[in-house]
Amino acid sequence: GVPLHINGRISGGIIVQNTHKIDAFSEKDLKLMGFIASQIGISILGRHNEERLIHSKEKAEESDRLKSAFLANMSHEIRTPMNSILGFSDLLSHYPMDKEQKKYITHIKESGVLLLNLINDIIDLSKIEAGQLSLNIQTFSVKKLLEDLFVSFDEHIKRSEKTRLRIVLATIEQDYFIQSDLLRLKQILSNFISNAIKYSKKGIITIGVEKSNKNIFRFYVKDTGIGIPSNKLDSIFERFHKIDNTEILGGGTGLGLSICKSLAEGLKGNINVKSELGIGSVFSIDLPYVQSSTTQHEIIADKNTLLSDFSNKTILIVEDDESSYFYFASTLKTTGANIIWVMDGFKAIEICKNNFSVDLILMDIRLPKLSGYAATKEIKAMHPNLPIIAQTAYAMPGEKQKCFDAGCDDYLTKPILPNDLIMSIAGFIGKNERK
Ligand code: ADP
Repeated sequence: GVPLHINGRISGGIIVQNTHKIDAFSEKDLKLMGFIASQIGISILGRHNEERLIHSKEKAEESDRLKSAFLANMSHEIRTPMNSILGFSDLLSHYPMDKEQKKYITHIKESGVLLLNLINDIIDLSKIEAGQLSLNIQTFSVKKLLEDLFVSFDEHIKRSEKTRLRIVLATIEQDYFIQSDLLRLKQILSNFISNAIKYSKKGIITIGVEKSNKNIFRFYVKDTGIGIPSNKLDSIFERFHKIDNTEILGGGTGLGLSICKSLAEGLKGNINVKSELGIGSVFSIDLPYVQSSTTQHEIIADKNTLLSDFSNKTILIVEDDESSYFYFASTLKTTGANIIWVMDGFKAIEICKNNFSVDLILMDIRLPKLSGYAATKEIKAMHPNLPIIAQTAYAMPGEKQKCFDAGCDDYLTKPILPNDLIMSIAGFIGKNERK
């Protein structure tokens, strides 16, 4: 016989606390047992099993937390040195130098960008896996999106060795303002365009958008590259899947399209591909048209921000990583700002208490002794109008909100390019441009 221990409480309040020994079950008995079991849930498994289940659940939750913490740490640890590598090579490239030196700097920059893209892919992938991908829905112009992509990839191709390849933007008859996550859509299309460049030796890459009668926008990237065999068209969207193609050297990781697919699902869109070997491919994403109530988009002035003037202004840099500090200080040198540097949150609070002539704070978030969040809260309690810009290598979801909740006025993630840094500061303490 099978001993059946029933030890527990039915939600209605009836206590069942008996130990039955049952030797044979009729079908009716089994149905009844099933019913009782479902009513009293876990208790039928007995205390021991219940504890084991709770223990495994806690263990699973703990390992999930550890995974998230590991990712947050890794992204921090990698982005901090990347900040220096990209930032300094960008600064260096503005100095006069000979051809050979220019070539080296270009290599450093390009490899840095590749590495950063790889890190971003891995972080995206883990966010998607952990179900932590959050969207930032905003209104934007379809035309401006494609023009921006065109300009940056046109420049990119012209600077590359692919002299027989060019990119064109198909005519856009009418502009539309749609609602979606601009950065994620841009990421998907950039991936399509990067692939089109990577897998084409020559010819034309056409980017464009078509609006169907059914109110669907189709953004497409068409190339005249090597094409994809028809039996591989599904598998290229699988993680780490690459077509074995010895012609193409230095290919990617096989992550790009699988990320695009998950992102497209997040945007309630569909990805399509058509391709013919030796002729070319068309990758597209269909997005439902969510019309925006706004008809004007925000125009961000396109200034040469490296000319900003912050003379007579004092900027407090709270940063425990020396090379990041030097990078910020060198970037700000051209602006004439006075710089104070401290390495932890307590010292930052002390400066704001004693010698209050600070106009703006650049606050690192992960600091020894006292976190940037805590330091920001205390400083804001003393000086609510003092602008504090969080600069952090965290790229995990929720960090941005946490910074704003602590009182920060802006949020920059490393690597921070000189222009982005200066543009953000100028938004708070900028004066007229120097000529
Ligand atoms: P990868 O980083 O390897 O480019 P993707 O996930 O972006 O990874 O692409 C997966 C595979 O699909 C590529 O390795 C390549 O074989 C194929 N592929 C993607 N885009 C194109 C294209 N425009 N033309 C030809 N093949 C492509």
